Amino acid sequence: MNINDLFSTTPQTWSTLYPAQLISYAPVTDHGIELYIKREDLLNPTLSGNKLYKLHGHLQAALASGSKTLISFGGYYSNHLHALAVAGKYMGLKTVGYIRGHRPEELTATLKDCLMAGMELHFLSRQDYRKKTDSDWLHAIKIAYQQAYVIPEGGQGPNGLRGCGSIFNAIRTQLGSDNMTVCVACGTGTTLAGLLSQSVEGDSLLGFSALKLGNQKSSFKNDIKAQLESQPVAVKWDIVADYHFGGFAKHNVELIEFMEDFERQTQVPLDPVYTAKMFYGIRAMAEQGFWPKGHRLVAIHSGGLQGRRGKPTLDSTVDKQIKITMANQFMEVM
Ligand SMILES: *Cc1c(COP(=O)(O)O)cnc(C)c1O
Repeated sequence: MNINDLFSTTPQTWSTLYPAQLISYAPVTDHGIELYIKREDLLNPTLSGNKLYKLHGHLQAALASGSKTLISFGGYYSNHLHALAVAGKYMGLKTVGYIRGHRPEELTATLKDCLMAGMELHFLSRQDYRKKTDSDWLHAIKIAYQQAYVIPEGGQGPNGLRGCGSIFNAIRTQLGSDNMTVCVACGTGTTLAGLLSQSVEGDSLLGFSALKLGNQKSSFKNDIKAQLESQPVAVKWDIVADYHFGGFAKHNVELIEFMEDFERQTQVPLDPVYTAKMFYGIRAMAEQGFWPKGHRLVAIHSGGLQGRRGKPTLDSTVDKQIKITMANQFMEVM
């Protein structure tokens, strides 16, 4: 969808544009499992997948409050800041990004795009970056930027999760919920919380953590539950925490080889931070016999492809294609 159409419609519409499609991926489907993928990455290359769904509620709240400036936080490859910069540019709002880490000599493709879209960048040391949740500091920058609207890192919060629920409604309308598990990659867990907020009895969901949770898994689950107005008691859901590959944004040769093989077999591009880890986990669990024969899996492709540009380990034709598509789309927005 082009950006004009995106901004004149809502998550409810976006979520129906790319229905889940059955894919053939032998390492999973050979175990008698039907594997569907819901391609939210196709929505728009510059406004990445779930980040657009999460931004929607925040942008509405910002407009309602009359804010002219949007402030948020993220790393060098942040899908969230990238989406925010593009959305702000389109809406004629000033955007400010606080970046985790010192200014690198050569900016990443993500940050170059953010700058080109007019985002003001501030680089914070790892230490100072922790201020992102300090209420006094946040209050001070809000005032410094004339009542700016501050979006928590990654687009978290009640305003962030609201739009994500549409994705789940679209899946249920299309496929029902019998013998089916919906899978999504998790960072903050906001997207999963949004899916859960629309779930009903009989639904089954799994979130694959891109972060190393260690003994924090149950508190992570509690944080997700705390975001929901009513508890999805009759819904089966869990966090899969075994496929983090050492932690957030960490990867090894095995993951990259898996990713390239998956792309060769399915023609679906992944990103090494989120979706590759989810599909790796899905394959591993299918091989372990986690799901019965005939079970249906619906994996949400949450986007994030812009973030893989420039990653030194990846230099496939897929990567080149992503760079070209991104660059073309980006010119259109500007
Ligand atoms: C941010 C992101 C996620 C994680 O979303 P949360 O709502 O933070 O859990 C998953 N996939 C991609 C591609 C992302 O960019």
